[in-house]
Amino acid sequence: MSYVDEIYARVVEQNPGEKEFHQAVKEVLDSLKLVIDANEEEYRKISLLERLVEPERIISFRVPWVDDNGKVQVNKGYRVQFNSAIGPYKGGLRFHPSVNQSILKFLGFEQIFKNSLTGLPIGGGKGGANFDPKGKSDREVMAFCQSFMTELSKYIGADQDVPAGDIGVGGREIGFMYGQYKRLTGQYEGVLTGKGLTWGGSLVRTQATGYGLVYIVDEMLKHVGKSLEGQTVVVSGSGNVAIYATEKAQQLGAKVVALSDSNGYVYDPEGIKLDIVKEIKEVRRGRIKEYADEVPSAKYTEGTGIWSIPCDIALPCATQNELNLEDAKTLKANGCFLVAEGANMPSTREATDFYLENGIMFMPGKAANAGGVATSALEMCQNSMRLSWSFDEVDQKLKNIMADIYAKTADAAERYGVPGNFVAGANIAGFEKVADAMKAQGIV
Ligand code: NDP
Repeated sequence: MSYVDEIYARVVEQNPGEKEFHQAVKEVLDSLKLVIDANEEEYRKISLLERLVEPERIISFRVPWVDDNGKVQVNKGYRVQFNSAIGPYKGGLRFHPSVNQSILKFLGFEQIFKNSLTGLPIGGGKGGANFDPKGKSDREVMAFCQSFMTELSKYIGADQDVPAGDIGVGGREIGFMYGQYKRLTGQYEGVLTGKGLTWGGSLVRTQATGYGLVYIVDEMLKHVGKSLEGQTVVVSGSGNVAIYATEKAQQLGAKVVALSDSNGYVYDPEGIKLDIVKEIKEVRRGRIKEYADEVPSAKYTEGTGIWSIPCDIALPCATQNELNLEDAKTLKANGCFLVAEGANMPSTREATDFYLENGIMFMPGKAANAGGVATSALEMCQNSMRLSWSFDEVDQKLKNIMADIYAKTADAAERYGVPGNFVAGANIAGFEKVADAMKAQGIV
């Protein structure tokens, strides 16, 4: 058995039932096979892969809080501190009823390579809770966030572990958690990113993941002599990533015709009117269905059929495994030639293989959505310097980082004889730096 197959078998055996984690490890290890085979003896000797797939630490804790009826509720909270070889742990917090250890381990594992790809000194981590902020009052969300942070604060710090937002954790939640951290520790430090602009946040952080996604798509198109001008784009989700991917795609001349949420999708052949989406989603915290109530050219459809809408470019920006093999085939049949992932692992493994085998240009999430964490690292940098950069300054740095990620990814794919395979390229480029640091730091 090859080293890679051995490690995958070990992960499945030692982490029973963690199917999302297995999926993420398999995808990464398979695409690293060329590098690992080339260095097998050296890596085996220091058990590099055994260490890479085992989180440095997982903290799991109880989060009790009182709801508006005076009843005590209890949720499960976690922080997975996966790998600190190249910097303090960095990765978002997700609040969603589906959150469990497997999902956070998959996200934390992916984060290691994504963070490495940004070229910035940040390790990989992820955390969250099986708490659903939907339908909760502001007071309930605050009570939850304060209780969550009371426990988490013992394990994080500006040079130790710096969480950020993810699904269900936006500016409001970061604010409540930051306030509690400060109260508990007395420290005004950059311990969380995604902070408000008046209290240590960075300009462009809100837009960064969506903008970064479109910047890398722009790079991919440039290299084949195309541009976003006039392209029809379908974006799934209607949260932070989806909204700002839509905004930047529109600014660069594309027509975004669809958005979704977990209930259904809207199709607006005249192009999505983003100000209305922002009002529904960012102000009223409503459902995407309301868009069709307000815009006569739009049609709302219940369910998950968004990928049946014809487009040139698909940007899945909602959640993991939201785009399967059938969806990938439908996209291809309808003329889609490029898929780039705003969400983490939105394409199933079968869908990813289909893109690669059928000439669809494909940029995986760990490269395509790295703009968010990269800008978080820029926020850490500004916090440490006690400075704030202008919007244009941060935006330009983000653009450069995305161009650099494209270049590194394309270069690694070339070097290992799989040109255009950005899945392999992103994993290899991210892995090389982490592996090198782990070798240098001895057996830890
Ligand atoms: P948000 O919570 O702001 O938005 C998530 C969106 O996806 C919502 O519209 C939500 O709909 C929808 N959604 C969630 N679950 C499903 C589902 N099962 N089926 C269909 N739609 C669904 O999160 P973000 O925009 O921040 O994150 C989206 C993705 O991007 C995640 O995979 C996240 O890990 C990834 N990401 C985010 C980064 C960031 O900076 N925010 C950075 C890098 C990656 P509903 O309201 O109905 O739940």
